[in-house]
This record gives sequence, structure tokens and C-alpha cells, in this order.
Amino acid sequence: MNKFAKLDRRFIWHPFTQMRDWLKHEPVVIASGRGAMLRDVQGHDYLDANSSIWTNLHGHNHPTINAAIRRQLGKIAHSSALGLANEPASLLAQKLVEAANPRSRRGDEADLWFSAQSASSPRRLQKVFYSDDGSTALEVALKLAYEYTRRSGRAQQPKFLSLEGAYHGDTVGAVSAGHIDLFHQSYAGLLFQTDKVMSPYCYRCPFNRAKPERADAREYRKCNWECTALVGKKFAAQKRKRKPYAAFIFEPRMQGAAGMIPQPDGWLRQVAEMARHHGTLLIADEVMTGFGRTGTTQSGLLFASHHEGVQPDFLCLAKGLTGGYLPMAATLTTQDVFDAFLGEYGEFKTFFHGHSYTANQLGAAAGLASLDLLQSRRGQRARQKLEKVLRDELQALWSLPQVGDIRQTGLVIGIELVRNWRTRAPFALKERAGIRVCEAMARRGVLTRPVGNVIVLMPPYCTTPQQVARMVGATMEAIATVFP
Ligand code: PMP
Repeated sequence: MNKFAKLDRRFIWHPFTQMRDWLKHEPVVIASGRGAMLRDVQGHDYLDANSSIWTNLHGHNHPTINAAIRRQLGKIAHSSALGLANEPASLLAQKLVEAANPRSRRGDEADLWFSAQSASSPRRLQKVFYSDDGSTALEVALKLAYEYTRRSGRAQQPKFLSLEGAYHGDTVGAVSAGHIDLFHQSYAGLLFQTDKVMSPYCYRCPFNRAKPERADAREYRKCNWECTALVGKKFAAQKRKRKPYAAFIFEPRMQGAAGMIPQPDGWLRQVAEMARHHGTLLIADEVMTGFGRTGTTQSGLLFASHHEGVQPDFLCLAKGLTGGYLPMAATLTTQDVFDAFLGEYGEFKTFFHGHSYTANQLGAAAGLASLDLLQSRRGQRARQKLEKVLRDELQALWSLPQVGDIRQTGLVIGIELVRNWRTRAPFALKERAGIRVCEAMARRGVLTRPVGNVIVLMPPYCTTPQQVARMVGATMEAIATVFP
């Protein structure tokens, strides 16, 4: 066994991993990467089909990002943001604020959700609080929303509302906002209570039992928006109890770790309007969906909320913020929220929260380079092309009886495995259907991880059509092998 594999097995405890299973095999030890490919120490090449757990945007070893980090490294790697400013973090904050307040689709101020572009609008995301990863980006939003709600006198101990199946990270606050029992119930005693509301899982919608004749003939949204009515009821109930929510937390357009669950067009806009009507703040978790992941139908929009015309009060970013190079996160918020924390020193209105590596220069330099690539015409065209190539290639998978659903939102794909597409009967988690298929894909040189029974494909934006064909081909073969 390779030396590094031995050291890994001896010393490392891997995240979200049953270590007994891990210790049965020699792990793949990654030595290098280029574009959409990873290479292990033995020289085997793999396609990075989930962008290294949804982080990488432009491919590995990208010359532009490498050069930006090298340039910054020649100056300084890190100095604290507690008491000091720095060059790249200031520049990146400016660029993030610009990207987070795009021009309205309709181009007018009347559009409530897009009224953010005017500098004086209360909806404008104006301030950037840096942290380290998706979980901390959420923690920051939770604390700010909670304290802002208290300070504005709306409620003294406000609760949060989030979606069924939600995942917002693994720190205690982020876990409290989540609703995946498998991950979260062991810590129940540690958590604060949050409410949940039905999310629109159209494939398994209890309000739409139409059975299509062909696997690919999905009849999504044959409904009367029963699920949004439930959200409305939830807000109304809290109003009656005089217990307004501090914030409604959601992943826009597609829930990721919940199982790659897309929201039908119009869903987010409707529930956002309900939350606003109730006076509730909006926390958009764009840790997965941000930076162009959910598609390019309206070129230039980098964040999924904006595709629905929704401007949140908190925009949580991580993963792709540095192009997938370094751990860095940001929580963007409004001037109003910022102002609620201003006061004389002795009033102690300060936001008492921060991390040692906050506003790290290397991360910020990578983030600036990544944003340039994202916003270039070339970058936009590449994403559009990849989205189409994926859509076309994926059609082949519908022929497999265990492919129940193929869900694509932009450049994020979830393939739900079922016993048989006609019955939609799910595999029990213990059967490890998703894991077995991903293991079979790895043997064919394609690396990804499932969420439950859903195979995730989320390749870097530089993935070529040939690589997409290889990735989908390996997925097809793997499913057929695991379920002969
Ligand atoms: N929110 C979402 C939507 C995520 O997908 C994740 C991570 N998969 C997180 C938050 C947590 O991010 P991190 O792992 O960087 O803490």
C-alpha cells in the first residue's frame, strides 16, 4: 500500500464517513489535478464529477487563479481582520456587492425584489461579513437575523423557519436550521428549535399522483400550489400566536444535500413574498447554488435567488467563492442590519463574532480571479454550452429502470435511483444504492458522492463535451452493473 494511504488510514478521521468501511480499502490518494481531472499517486486519472464536493468552478490548476494566488503570496498570505484591513478582501467585497445587486430584469424600481439596485434601497446587499466555510456563513446570518429582530423590537426570542430536508452545514446553529434526521437527530439535545415547512419535492409530491407512461414524461407542477399554501399557513399561524419568525432560510432554486430537489418556477418568489408580508427576513443559502451553478438562462446573474427575482436580506456564500481553491465564506447583508449594530463602544452593540482567518488574503485573491473568470463572456458561454451538453447526454439514462428521476437545474444534476421507475419505490438507505453506484463509477474513473439514493453530477465549468460523455457513460454502466 502506498505510503500516504497508510498514513491516512493510521491518522485521519474522514468527514461523513463510516470509518470501518473506509479502513477496508486502500484509499485513492490524490496527487494533482488539471482542469476537470484529478490524478492519484499511482498515476490513475479521474473525472472530478462533483467538483470536489461542489467547490471547484473553473477546474484545477487554473493558470489565472494560480497566478493570482502566487502574486498575493509574494506579498503576504494572511493578516488578521480583527483590527486591520487588507487589499484583496476590500476589493472582493466591492465586487461581491456589485454581483449581489444586479440590474432588474424589468429594469424598473417597481419590481419589489429587484429594487435593490438603487444605492439607497433598503434591499441592497451592502455589507460583507467574511468567515471560513458554508456553515459559518450560515451561523453569521442566523446570529445577525436573530439579534436584528430583537433590536428592531419585532420579537424577543424569534424562531426560524426552514425547509423540510434542509441542510445548512454542521456547526450547531447551522444544524439547528437543518432538517435531515439522519445527520441531525443525534445532536437534538444540543440544538435550538426551528420550524420546518414542506419544500416542493415534485417527484414525490403528495398532491400530484399522476403516473406518467414513460419514465422521462415527468408531469411536474400539475398542482394548485398546495405546498406554497402550506408555507402561507405557517406564517399565518405564527402571526396569530404573535410570534413572528426572525427569518425564513432557504436554498434558492434547488435544495442540494436534501437530494438535489429543484423548485418549480415561481415557488421561491411566492414564498418570499409571503415571508416579506409577514415581516420576516430572508436568508438565502447560496453555498451550493451561488456563482452560476444554477444556470445561465439570464446571462450575468450569478446567484440563484435573482433568477426568481428575489433579493434576500442575507446572502450566504462559500464553496465556489474562491473558485474552489481555499476555504473562505461571506455573508452579505443590508445597511439596515449593519446599522442595528452601531453604537457607542460602551453600549456593546458590536457583533461579537469572528474567526482567525477572516478575510484571508490568499482566499480573497483567488476569489477576485474567480469572479473575473465567471463574469467574462468566455466564462458565460462555456457554462451555457456545458449546461446544454449535460442536458443532451443525460437523456440516455432514462432508459434504465432504476433511474426514477433526472433533475437538472443549470449545472447541478441529481439522478434519483429507485427500485423501478414505474413504482418510484425507494431503496432503503441501508442498501447503499447510491454509494454502490458511485463506487462502480470510481472504478470507471469518475469520482462523485451520492446524497442518499441520488447520484450527483456537478462538474467544473471547464468540463469538455468528451468528458461529459465519459461521465454520463460511466454513470450508465455503473447503474447497469450494480443493478443487473
Ligand atoms: N449550505 C449548503 C447548501 C451546503 O451545501 C453546504 C455544504 N455542502 C453547507 C451549507 C455547509 O458548507 P461547509 O461544508 O463549507 O461548511
